[in-house]
Order: sequence, then structure tokens, then C-alpha cells
Amino acid sequence: MTDIFQRFGMTKSARAVICREIGKPVVVERITVQPPKRGEVMIKLAACGVCHSDLSATNGTISMKLPIILGHEGAGEVIEVGEGVDGVALGDHVVSCFIYMCGKCRYCAMGRPVLCLDQGKALNTLPDGTLRTHDARGEALNIFSGCGVMAEYATVAVDNVVKIDSAIPLACAALVGCAVTTGVGAVFNTARVSPGSSVVVFGCGGIGLNVIQGARIAGAGRIVAIDTLQPKLEMAKQFGATDTLLAKPGEDLVKPIKKLTGGGADYAFECVGNGELAALSFRAIARGGMAVVVGLAKPSDTTSVRTMSLPFEEKTLTGSYFGSCVPRVDYPRLLGLYMAGRLKLEELITHRYHIDEAPQAFADLESGKNARGVITF
Ligand SMILES: [Zn+2]
Ligand SMILES: [Zn+2]
Repeated sequence: MTDIFQRFGMTKSARAVICREIGKPVVVERITVQPPKRGEVMIKLAACGVCHSDLSATNGTISMKLPIILGHEGAGEVIEVGEGVDGVALGDHVVSCFIYMCGKCRYCAMGRPVLCLDQGKALNTLPDGTLRTHDARGEALNIFSGCGVMAEYATVAVDNVVKIDSAIPLACAALVGCAVTTGVGAVFNTARVSPGSSVVVFGCGGIGLNVIQGARIAGAGRIVAIDTLQPKLEMAKQFGATDTLLAKPGEDLVKPIKKLTGGGADYAFECVGNGELAALSFRAIARGGMAVVVGLAKPSDTTSVRTMSLPFEEKTLTGSYFGSCVPRVDYPRLLGLYMAGRLKLEELITHRYHIDEAPQAFADLESGKNARGVITF
């Protein structure tokens, strides 16, 4: 049967996780997915991680066009290939990539595609502005960041997938589509953490745990994990934290951090998305240190730092988006570390959900229950 579908490029019926209304639970609906056009591929998804950005779309923190099919951390098999596609073939295993890369602007040219000048181009649609997805009434459904992979099938642009080694379990591979690359990439690419250095990590969710394991792989000597929840700190230890600090409301953590790191950390990573925490990260680093904001704050949020410490202490406050990655370089590199037993992926998946359990998966994410919850198809 599959062969016939491929030959005639038939529309597929699929179940998908959709946000129809801000502030309401996600819904699971049966949708149709049209076959790929030029430069596109159809994927049969095996797994999709549930990310904070998906949640942010459902509660209005980030503004997306509704109704929208969620999901940008998926992995699956290519089951149909549109005209003019090369580099990806039928049967290949792929991981989704949620950034749009024009390949021509100066940032793409210098190997920094996360800064692509056209990055807003495919926020709710395919790069050409159209959609292959419709609901039961025939209404077009938007797709999250050119992906919309929280569904059994998805048709996406070939530039929004990266081919991977098919020996890698797809549920694990999916996680490099966002959380792992964001966290480990911030350590490897943005900060370039050096062996023996001290690192402090604010927030031990899906991103923070990956910053911690990135720092461990990079050979950091001291890794201080900070969170408001004790179970998250226990997880942090499993991923390589050498020390933990339980944050209490109103407590200034600079003193204990300085004590643990011998006067201040070489690197601090803010993985929550909060201006006050970003300022605290900056205060917690030593002279010549670097504070990296990885968490996505609300648009209205601001950070203030003591201006004088910039020249006198040569401190750096910077940010990292999607681990400053080049997907075709970094996905295989990270999955290579996994295959070598150095990067933990199975351990990140603390719960697997059936697609019908998607509303629960989002509720669990909100209550901080999981390192990563993954929907498997
Ligand atoms: Zn994400
Ligand atoms: Zn570009």
C-alpha cells in the first residue's frame, strides 16, 4: 500500500496536536497532510519532544498564527520526496530543524544561520508561505516554525530536516532538534567553555540539563546547578553537576556561588528566560567571565547590569539562540557523542506519551515534572 501512496503522492490522514485558542489546552485532531511539492519531503514521524516554546505558543508568551500544529523537535522517516530534492532520499531518517536559513544573507554566508536575516519568513507556514495541512472542515492549519511535527505525518521543506544515522533510536534523535542542541551548543559554540573552568547553570529543565552535560563533556572542573526544585537538582547531578544550590525566594545567590567557584564562575548560563536571573548570572561570574542568556524571556522583560564592571572587569553578557548551531554540522556531531556513550539522551526522556495524552504532556511540562516529555507515534 505504501508504494501506491508514494507513486501517486496521495494526501495522508494524520492525527496532530493543535493549538486553537490561547490559554486553552491543546487538542488532538484528525487532519490531512498533502504530498510534498518542489523542494519538500513528507515525513512519517516517530517521536516529537514537547518543548517550552510549544507551551509558550499555547499561553501567548510567543505570538503565533492560530490554529497551529505544534511541534519542532521531531524525528522520523522520509516517505515521500518532492521534485528537486537532493541530499535526502526515501527511507532516510531525519530530525526536524525549526530555523529558516536563506543560505544567502551575510549571516548564513558566515556560518551563523540562527541569525539569518530572513529568519521570520517561515514562522507559521512553509518557506514559500503556503501550507499542506488542513483540518476536517478543509480549513488550512498553520505549522510551528516551518515544522508542525507534533503529528503522525508532516510535509516540510527539505532545508527543515537533517539526515541522521538510521542506527540512532528516533525518540532520542528528536531531542537534538531543539533542547540538546540549544543547551550543548550554548556551551560548545557560543561560550566555548574550556577544560577545567567553572560553570554555573540557572534552571535545570530540558535546556539546563543539556548545558550541564555540555559543560561536563567540555571538561569543566566545577559545574554548579541551581534550581528552585530539589528533584531537578538530583537530575542535574546525574548529568554532571558537581555542586547544587537550592534557590529560595528572595535569597541572593552571589555569595554562595562565589564561595563554590573560588571568587566567581568563568561561565554562567541563564536557562529560564528572566531579566533578574540574567543580571544575577552577570554578577555571579568572575573577572573576564561570560554570562550567556539561553532562556527565552517575555518581550517586555529587561536586564540591568553595573556598567562599570564591563570595562573594569571585562565581563561579557551575551545570548545564545539554538546553541549558535549549524544544524547540518551540529546534529551529526552531537549524535556522534551519543553513539560514543558520552551524551545522555535516553536519560533525558522522563516520560513517553501517546498522542492522545498530549494535553497531559503539556500540563506536566508546565508543572516541571519532566526533563523531557516525548510524544511517540
Ligand atoms: Zn524547542
Ligand atoms: Zn540567511
